[in-house]
Amino acid sequence: MSFPNLQVVKSTSPSNSAPLASAYPVDLSVVIPIYNEEENIPHLYQALTAALEKIGKTYEIILVDDGSTDGSYAALCRLADLDKRVKVIQFRRNFGQTAAMVAGFDHAQGRVIIPMDGDLQNDPNDIPLLLQKIEEGYDVVSGWRKNRQDKALLRKFPSRIANWLIGKVTGVKLHDYGCSLKAYRAEILKGTRLYGEMHRFIPALANLMGARITEVPVTHHARKFGKSKYGLKRTLKVLLDLLTVKFLSDYSTKPIYFFGGVGVMLCAGGVLAGGVTFYDKYVKGVWVHKNPLLLIAVFLFSLGINFILMGLLAEIIIRTYHEAQAKPIYWVREMRNFEEALSGGSRSGLNG
Ligand code: UDP
Ligand code: MG
Repeated sequence: MSFPNLQVVKSTSPSNSAPLASAYPVDLSVVIPIYNEEENIPHLYQALTAALEKIGKTYEIILVDDGSTDGSYAALCRLADLDKRVKVIQFRRNFGQTAAMVAGFDHAQGRVIIPMDGDLQNDPNDIPLLLQKIEEGYDVVSGWRKNRQDKALLRKFPSRIANWLIGKVTGVKLHDYGCSLKAYRAEILKGTRLYGEMHRFIPALANLMGARITEVPVTHHARKFGKSKYGLKRTLKVLLDLLTVKFLSDYSTKPIYFFGGVGVMLCAGGVLAGGVTFYDKYVKGVWVHKNPLLLIAVFLFSLGINFILMGLLAEIIIRTYHEAQAKPIYWVREMRNFEEALSGGSRSGLNG
């Protein structure tokens, strides 16, 4: 498979990392959403710290408890007490993986942000591979679970189709959108706004910002403890999210082009059908009541006008959409090892 969208970055652009270094207190932020992963947490911490120590950069590990109902939060608190580089956020209820990741991104202080799963399916030893690509000048490095350890029919097959389709529609061809293990330059993430289950589309949204994107094969392990939180149901959501991403990427700043375009075409169809009605009556002597074309003309024309008006409304709405104060998509109950005081929800808001 070829990658027309993945640019090769020449090593003659050293400016990418240098000027930002001072703006970020730490080098790496690892962000991990946790939903009922009690048994995985101690193993995760051990594997992760071992891998991060080897890299030799400063780091923080942000663990976001997404409303777990088992002992996950207590386990996270134990880690936070032991290690000040472990920072914990607890949601008031389950807000979903995307919200948990966004909470971590919002509070991350690292120059490079690395999300991963909390179930040990991703391998922390792959982090250096991702960082190497960042050093080469890429803004987004996506993990590719080349040898994915999940059920073939229920998980791998739908995901293959989804990846192909997302690549086609968004123009960013990655083998594995669904892999959580990725690396982002912080400023790229701060520019994206995620809703629903949109985290898998970050590379596509980053692409809208002009990010340089690449992928590297990473190791994937089968789940040892706990259960997967997803099933086949996710596929439909992915398709609907894709529709949103496509619409936002093409028309979020100019909806009148979409609605207006459809509207004008419908009106043109209406005018045509009306013209034929007149022609039939005055040239061929066929009266309107023997001919469905008049109805079709009225229908198409009023539908067309409605589309155009909807486009104008959408133009007003997107102005609010882009300019209004961002509303939170989650509320934090408690935070550990953060300097700032807690005040309800945090930033979030628009997409794209
Ligand atoms: N997760 C979460 N909130 C949810 C569902 C999942 O924070 O509502 C976390 C989960 O704890 C794990 C990661 O998201 O760390 C990925 O979930 P899972 O392993 O179930 O997904 P899969 O690997 O099966 O796609
Ligand atoms: Mg998993």
